[in-house]
Amino acid sequence: MNRLAPLSEEPTNDEEEDNNNSSKKVSSWRNWLKSHFSLLFNKKSDLKILLSVLGCPLFPISPHAGQPNTHVSSSAEYIIQHFTAATGCRKLEGKVKNVFATGKVRMAMVDELGSSGSSTAVGPTGVSQKGCFVMWQMVPDKWLIELVVGGHKVVAGSDGNVAWRHTPWIGAHAAKGGVRPLRRVLQGLDPLAVSAVFSSAQYMGEKRIMGVDCFVLKLSADHTDLADRSDNTAEMIKHVIFGYFSQRSGLLVYLEDSYLTRIQSPGSRPTYWETTMATKIEDYRTVEGVMIAHGGQSSAIITRFGDNLKVGPAITRMEETWTIDDLAFNVPGLSMDCFIPPEEVQKDYPEENLDWRSPLHRTPTPPENEKLASPGPPPIRVSITEMAGRGVFATRRIGSGDLIHTAKPLVSHPSLSSIHSVCYFCLRKLKPVTSSEDCNVRFCSQECEEQSKVFVAVERKADWSAYDDYCRTRGLKYPLLVKRLACMVVSGVASADCLDILQPASLSSEMISEMGEGFSLLQSAFMKAKARDECMAFLTEQWYINVLARFRINSFRIELAGGSYEDLHSLAAASVETEAAVGNAVYMLPSFYNHDCDPNVHIIWIDNVNARLKALREIEAGEELRICYIDASMDHDARQTILFQGFGFRCSCLRCSSGD
Ligand SMILES: [Zn+2]
Ligand SMILES: [Zn+2]
Repeated sequence: MNRLAPLSEEPTNDEEEDNNNSSKKVSSWRNWLKSHFSLLFNKKSDLKILLSVLGCPLFPISPHAGQPNTHVSSSAEYIIQHFTAATGCRKLEGKVKNVFATGKVRMAMVDELGSSGSSTAVGPTGVSQKGCFVMWQMVPDKWLIELVVGGHKVVAGSDGNVAWRHTPWIGAHAAKGGVRPLRRVLQGLDPLAVSAVFSSAQYMGEKRIMGVDCFVLKLSADHTDLADRSDNTAEMIKHVIFGYFSQRSGLLVYLEDSYLTRIQSPGSRPTYWETTMATKIEDYRTVEGVMIAHGGQSSAIITRFGDNLKVGPAITRMEETWTIDDLAFNVPGLSMDCFIPPEEVQKDYPEENLDWRSPLHRTPTPPENEKLASPGPPPIRVSITEMAGRGVFATRRIGSGDLIHTAKPLVSHPSLSSIHSVCYFCLRKLKPVTSSEDCNVRFCSQECEEQSKVFVAVERKADWSAYDDYCRTRGLKYPLLVKRLACMVVSGVASADCLDILQPASLSSEMISEMGEGFSLLQSAFMKAKARDECMAFLTEQWYINVLARFRINSFRIELAGGSYEDLHSLAAASVETEAAVGNAVYMLPSFYNHDCDPNVHIIWIDNVNARLKALREIEAGEELRICYIDASMDHDARQTILFQGFGFRCSCLRCSSGD
């Protein structure tokens, strides 16, 4: 199959491909060499080299490929068993559909002080480039990474069939060879993938690295895969990987991989390029009970050598420091559209392969006896924006009035004034009751009662009168959400860090000190109820503050519109007549929407806490989707004041810029 220019894992050429077939081989070889020489000796291109090499390298072995029939030594097996036990990753098996991660990177070229100098003795040259990334992974083999460094954005993805990359300087290009995972995922981010790839590894012995005694496991890319990744100009000779597992902790603490490429022009002697990348993997922390690495350093060394070079080997070094900010499993609403390669890469596909990848490509006329196909996943993706961190973007055109997606809350709670008139779980309005059953919370359905059973049981063990009074007298609503979340964590239906992915409000020391009373009341309610210590370990003042800081700017005030949501006009009329808010809730995806005083999307609630995100007007593919966090009918100054006090930013949307 003819593919586009290969996804080179070395620095790449920014000149246009010569499309003349007869001279293609020679010219692509010339371009390859020219680009490498010019890039390696031209400091202006540092950022391109950094992004090309460190940005989104692939790992040569897929965790989902069939295991090769190699003999697995019992030592390797023991090391992997130790690793899976240490990370606790078995509990994710079969349960994780997708993983979402965001993080930061800092990249720099490193001065070469003699090829034998140790990398710790050399420092970065020039400025180090800062950046951030968003990563989606859908099990198995589908992934997407967007990385912005120094104002340049690189996107790479895999739809399970082809891996591709898009850079500002060469556009989109497909990877040669089979689909492989992102190397970043193997850097301690996905322990299941680590154990899957290394389960067929060879045990190499023990080695002390960075002061840690490690067991060393080795993997090699097989010959067919290397051949697939080669072409007429560049031949992949070998690609080996070493994983260093701490003897004490069992964790993967160091990952090294190295590949050798032979570049040969017709009638001349070959040049060899060796690229070695080594990563320290650190800062393991638990996410939903599984140990995930949250930081580390990678260094890459590219060495060029060969008979036709007058000088000795030429070496280029670079370094990256990375941290993971947020990581979450099974984020709802992840669209398969995320993983569709750019159009240029799609041209490589035979047409008949297209239909499974997206609802957009489905054959238009299904058999008559077949039910109407489900509308498919929501047409959105979460990505980094230039101004406001994360944002939500349309992956295709969305019609005015279309329901974009729905969202269930992570945590919700009725307001104290509605507590006897709405469902304690879904906030649906209930019929008035006789006074005899007035004192207890109620549910709209067996289903809601069932879903609340465990955390309500925890809640009922404690006396909340002092805490509720504290909320009522001060008119506080967020501490009620904290109480609900605490009960959910104690009962095991939520993890203590489930909100960490959301942006926290920045709190003044005054605000923090005011939270002390709420925390003491919450803690004493649990203590008087004699909750078991091991269940309460998470409940620290810092946890209380962290959670409250997230509720502050991510909670939605739930006002039920009732009636049919399909008619926007009747909805607008209904929302005027509706009563005060029935409660508050926090959601995952809706929290990623940025604000606009003239929004293109709005969030509404019809009869319960489940939110609906609807398009207010026609939205083009690629456009950012924004909601209005406040009452949009307020004037300019009032909006600015509320947004600054409540959300900590000055709005510079088009409407605000125009002075309206
Ligand atoms: Zn309900
Ligand atoms: Zn504005």
